[in-house]
Amino acid sequence: MILGIGDIVAAAGVLLGLNYVALFIAAYLFDRSARHLLWYLAGAGAFIGSSAAYVMTEIAPFHGVFFILDDVLVCTGFLLVSMGICAHARLRVPGRMFAVTAIIGAFVITVLAPLGELSLSRLTAVSLFQVALPVMVVVRLYRLPVISGRTRFLATMLCAVILSVLIRPLIAAWAVSHGDLSLHDQAELYGTYAATPFAATLFAFAATIFFLAMSDLAATYRHASLTDSLTGLLNRRGFLDEGNRFAARPAALIMLDIDNFKAINDTHGHDQGDRVIAGVASVIAEAAPRPHLCGRLGGEEFAILVARAELPVATALAQAIRVAIEMDLQDSLPDGRLVTASLGVAGIGDEGIAGALIAADHALYDAKEAGRNRVCVAAAEPAHGRASRAGGRRSA
Ligand code: GH3
Ligand code: MG
Ligand code: MG
Repeated sequence: MILGIGDIVAAAGVLLGLNYVALFIAAYLFDRSARHLLWYLAGAGAFIGSSAAYVMTEIAPFHGVFFILDDVLVCTGFLLVSMGICAHARLRVPGRMFAVTAIIGAFVITVLAPLGELSLSRLTAVSLFQVALPVMVVVRLYRLPVISGRTRFLATMLCAVILSVLIRPLIAAWAVSHGDLSLHDQAELYGTYAATPFAATLFAFAATIFFLAMSDLAATYRHASLTDSLTGLLNRRGFLDEGNRFAARPAALIMLDIDNFKAINDTHGHDQGDRVIAGVASVIAEAAPRPHLCGRLGGEEFAILVARAELPVATALAQAIRVAIEMDLQDSLPDGRLVTASLGVAGIGDEGIAGALIAADHALYDAKEAGRNRVCVAAAEPAHGRASRAGGRRSA
């Protein structure tokens, strides 16, 4: 027994495939909500099995069984990968179509096996059945109303794998055309040129899946690090991060602080206090949807970056939010007490978000001083080296 290049590629595929299995498991353990990785993992298992079966046809007895097993496992691998892509891209799985195609495919593979490795009709039929499911998936992906760059990349890599399977009959025809070679050498030639592109594209596809899983993971953690878990608004870091990237002017900033919140906590408990914070946050989020930015800067203190608006528009929005909190949350406390908030508004000038935050905070303090449940506006220019919180403001 001498292993040809095709067998060596398949054996290397088993080892490299096991590496990907470990990577997929690690990626899944990092983020157990990424269930599609389990389909990919199972698919990797099937492809590894097919490579092992391919090698076994050379070194084991009953090689006819391994010959069939190899092709059936490739079908299974494609079925599992197709399920993974459907789960990843949230496509509905055409389960019945998948099952019928897989069963007929396995039947055709078994029935046509006696025709031999280089039979063109066998290879054509088998290749078509093997790629039927991924082709269906790729077509559905490209027909999505909106397809992201990442999904397009994944679909393109899958197309490369499909192509590497579809060219097999052509490679076989080319190998058979070498009439001067023995049947065994023709098979070797076919094995080399069929296994290599299949393994190369399959590993590029696996690398793509792993890359996408890692970038999904990074996006999840980045989102979590910039989001406030109680309210779903941006946290202080997220608000400042996004706010500072907000180059477009004019823009204004509203600071909001719930009035006498400590008393709400003390009277009704911390959980009730949390519900009030969440309630105020949803009023703010509804009143100031994107492109405005809403953040919870800490405790019961919020900030809203009003995009593309002059001070009067931001002040009107602040008033609307103040009234909405009073109205929408009027039944939120068991003792019937109203939830109210004080707000400070400032324009975003040359000193950027940091300067506007200071100015809006001063105006907010003024609103508290003036009796709470009101809006105060900072002087048009952000306070420059102001010694005290008072001055340069007006009530709205
Ligand atoms: P003012 O009208 O002047 O703003 O008075 P206040 O009572 O609202 O302000 P103060 O700063 O004295 O109290 C804020 C309280 O908010 C104190 C703190 O225990 C509470 N707090 C901070 N973060 C949270 C939170 O995440 N959940 C709850 N339930 N309470 C919080
Ligand atoms: Mg407060
Ligand atoms: Mg406060």
